[in-house]
Formats: sequence, C-alpha cells, structure tokens
Amino acid sequence: MHEMAICESIRGILEEEAAKQSAARVDRVCLEIGRLAGVEVEALKFGFDVVMRGSLAEGARLDILETEARAWCMPCGRSVAIAQRYDPCPVCGSHQLQVTGGEEMRIKELEVS
Ligand SMILES: [Zn+2]
Repeated sequence: MHEMAICESIRGILEEEAAKQSAARVDRVCLEIGRLAGVEVEALKFGFDVVMRGSLAEGARLDILETEARAWCMPCGRSVAIAQRYDPCPVCGSHQLQVTGGEEMRIKELEVS
C-alpha cells in the first residue's frame, strides 16, 4: 500500500514546515489530490492517522480536495474534463487526448499553532 509511504513523506514535510514556523503542533492539513494521482483517498485517510501518531501532527484534521482530471483534445482543440485516463473526449469521442491535469498531489493549506 503506497499510501503509507505517501503519509510518511507528508509527515516529513509537516515536521519541516512546523519547525520553520516554530509551531508546536499541526492542527489541519488540506491536501489537493488529482483524480489521476493513483491515490486511494480512504487508504490515505487511514494511513494518515496511523503515521501521524506520536508526531506533532497527531490528531490533525485531514481535508482532502480531489481535483478533476483534464485533458487537451487535439481534434477539438480544447481542454476537456475526463473521469479517468484513456477516456475518450466527451465532446467528439476521440482518443487523441493529452492529459494536462489531475496527476498532481500537493499540500494546499497547513494550519499550525
Ligand atoms: Zn474532442
């Protein structure tokens, strides 16, 4: 389950950020996850609580913002929303799509005290 590994790296980032801001604890984290990032949100939530135990982010609230996947359709010459990779263009049905968004994962907001 690579969600645990993701949580470990989030923990590292949180500890670094909290130290930078001389914070004693992390109250809330908002993660932005693209639909194509290959992350199981439920598994990530579970892993988060487990991994943060004993750290300054223990008990922190985790908010997850799923961002839609977008692709550029060559025949249409425009950006379209897709549900998953290899989906056809919702407008013209073409498969000549270039994924342009939805693969990213980042920490959007961080609240510390
Ligand atoms: Zn199209």
